[in-house]
Amino acid sequence: MKFRFPIVIIDEDFRSENTSGLGIRALAQAIEADGFEVLGVTSYGDLSQFAQQQSRASAFVLAIDDEEFSSGPELDPAVEKLRAFIEEVRWKNADVPIFLHGETKTSRHLPNDILRELHGFIHMFEDTPEFVAKHIIREAKSYLESIQPPFFKQLLDYAEDGSYSWHCPGHSGGVAFLKSPIGQMYHQFYGENMLRADVCNAVEELGQLLDHNGAIGASERNAARIFNSDHCFFVTNGTSTSNKMVWHHTVAPGDVVVVDRNCHKSILHAIIMTGAIPVFLKPTRNHWGIIGPIQRSEFEPEAIRAKMKANPLLADYDTDNVQPRIMTLTQSTYDGVLYNTEVIKGMLDGWVDNLHFDEAWIPHAAFHPFYGQYHAMGRKRERTAKSITYATQSVHKLLAGISQASHVLVQDSKEERLDRHLFNESYLMHTSTSPQYSIIASCDVAAAMMEPPGGTALVEESIVEALDFRRAMVKVEEEYGPEDWWFQVWGPTDFRADGDGMAATRDWVLKKTDAEGVETTGSDSWHGFGDMAPGFNMLDPIKATIITPGLDIEGRFDDSGIPASIVSKYLAEHGVVVEKTGLYSFFILFTIGITKGRWNTLLAALQQFKDHYDKNQPLWRVMPEFSAKFPRYERMGLKDLSQHVHSLYAKYDVARLSTEIYLTDHHPEMTPSEAFSHIARRKTERVSIDELEGRITTSLVTPYPPGIPLLIPGEVFNAKIVDYLRFNREFARECPGFETDIHGLVTETSEDGQTYYFADCVAR
Ligand SMILES: *Cc1c(COP(=O)(O)O)cnc(C)c1O
Repeated sequence: MKFRFPIVIIDEDFRSENTSGLGIRALAQAIEADGFEVLGVTSYGDLSQFAQQQSRASAFVLAIDDEEFSSGPELDPAVEKLRAFIEEVRWKNADVPIFLHGETKTSRHLPNDILRELHGFIHMFEDTPEFVAKHIIREAKSYLESIQPPFFKQLLDYAEDGSYSWHCPGHSGGVAFLKSPIGQMYHQFYGENMLRADVCNAVEELGQLLDHNGAIGASERNAARIFNSDHCFFVTNGTSTSNKMVWHHTVAPGDVVVVDRNCHKSILHAIIMTGAIPVFLKPTRNHWGIIGPIQRSEFEPEAIRAKMKANPLLADYDTDNVQPRIMTLTQSTYDGVLYNTEVIKGMLDGWVDNLHFDEAWIPHAAFHPFYGQYHAMGRKRERTAKSITYATQSVHKLLAGISQASHVLVQDSKEERLDRHLFNESYLMHTSTSPQYSIIASCDVAAAMMEPPGGTALVEESIVEALDFRRAMVKVEEEYGPEDWWFQVWGPTDFRADGDGMAATRDWVLKKTDAEGVETTGSDSWHGFGDMAPGFNMLDPIKATIITPGLDIEGRFDDSGIPASIVSKYLAEHGVVVEKTGLYSFFILFTIGITKGRWNTLLAALQQFKDHYDKNQPLWRVMPEFSAKFPRYERMGLKDLSQHVHSLYAKYDVARLSTEIYLTDHHPEMTPSEAFSHIARRKTERVSIDELEGRITTSLVTPYPPGIPLLIPGEVFNAKIVDYLRFNREFARECPGFETDIHGLVTETSEDGQTYYFADCVAR
């Protein structure tokens, strides 16, 4: 396998016609003659730019110029330059070989902190360039081998071997694609390697995902170590599947489970599949539609027990003695609110058998001290006494995994260890017998990338970028001044910055504060969730919720406003796609793939939006795709449209309505699995939304935004929810393009173009 990892030579004389220039070029030639690429540069240039080079260099050769070494080494500017460069590289990369190259100077001239980072000191003219080149190349090669994690290494070896396969997949290393024109196109697009490495589990030397042995097993153990867990299981079908694995291992029919109401639908699917009886923990919400944390008091066993007693499905249970089997918490809500897991473990250890943190959004938290105890498993964190801890993480969401890359992490308790064999029974239930090896390789590589110091540096970079973005947004606002308008980024506004651009963790902990950030007893706070238990929640700054004008934190509408969906539709037409859009907020993510260019583009696009809005530019001009799709708005300007939708939202008090439907009491009439089983038995009835009150749903009903299920199978449509569905239908007629999309409803369009909405219910 040919990789492009040049040996980088930095020497001011690289292009000079003096002896030192001749010497270094002779070395470069000798390296190239041995088949390695050389990148020669004449100065350190911009240090941070060079730090990027560390990821694609196989070694550095740094020349030290004789004249530059003048006085004592401590004061020497050349030594300072060298030190700064080495520090910058080592911040991210502890292993890439660094050589010094000089004419007469020796290690005597360098301080220890530099010497210990070096792989060698080369004296020009003492050995032949060929000999020196061999030495450097040997180190470079061994470095490139050493960075390969176990599975990926084997996969490379296997692909290189070029063995002919007689097993599936049937495309035989891509050959099948070459037999048709469109197949050729596919082959050229993805490239030969992706197809050569698409193998099946008959290849012994790669190990078996389903048995966790061989190279794959080694790789999972490596990832477990990196992520501070006792066990790691790679999952090739997303955290949706990881969650189901954890649940099928821990929950049986009729078991009582404690679940975050703001959970991902895969958890609700797991409830249906296992036949569990859920008791829900209810998150707070603010009127921007941002889902807040569950209050700490809700986690008290007595509070949970009170909910069990009130649950009609548990009428026959001895609720004083029931022990919940699992507690599942969305650890990092969609808007980036994290929980202090130590506090939760302290409250529930031994009382709930299994503690499950759905960490789909925070696989990065373990790699930076910024996140403290606000994630499930960390270095030097103590085990729970009794309950086993599970964390499920989407490697593909914030780390460098390809879609569907996920893993289950397990930490044993002092008393109980995971029975890996039994866990695997559940693992097998949810795993294809033909797992995709590229996904396994990306789980392997993504884990290796997070190994400190590289992983820590990557996370810090995302945080600093996210903070810089927030600072830039504040600066823009200040420049426009109080008479003008601009977008807000949800979160603390006065976070301190230290020299590296980072902020203090405590600034991001949710407390009750006034606009100046001082803790108060009043109702003001930047988050809008009311009273927060101290030290229980923090906001992850890499999730940025941007708030558009028009609605205040109390849910009061201003005279004018800009619904967020208009901004995100506008942005999409200008090449910027955001992660999620609410009523007056939308959301972007600073993953480890984000760059300055990316967020600066967003900032520029927002400026442009403001300009177009202020000038009320016609929609056919600034949002041509949207106005082609909805010709009724074609002649409006951007401001007109915003005002039109805003006044309708205000007229119907939509913010309050869509918050309150989530806060109404949900009455379960039967267990989720029982209700769902009506589908298989064809005992369902498609009921018009006007007739829904009192009926039991067989499906999930989920409005987008926010994408959180409103009702789950077995629950009853109450009057408030029915009103809301009716309202949404009217709104869709009055203001097409801006209605809430409600998954789970069935729509039918009649001949006259009217849309009718139905929900599938348990048949009477
Ligand atoms: C995305 C998500 C999942 C599912 O993860 P996939 O990898 O997309 O299957 C589970 N839980 C939460 C909280 C998520 O956000």
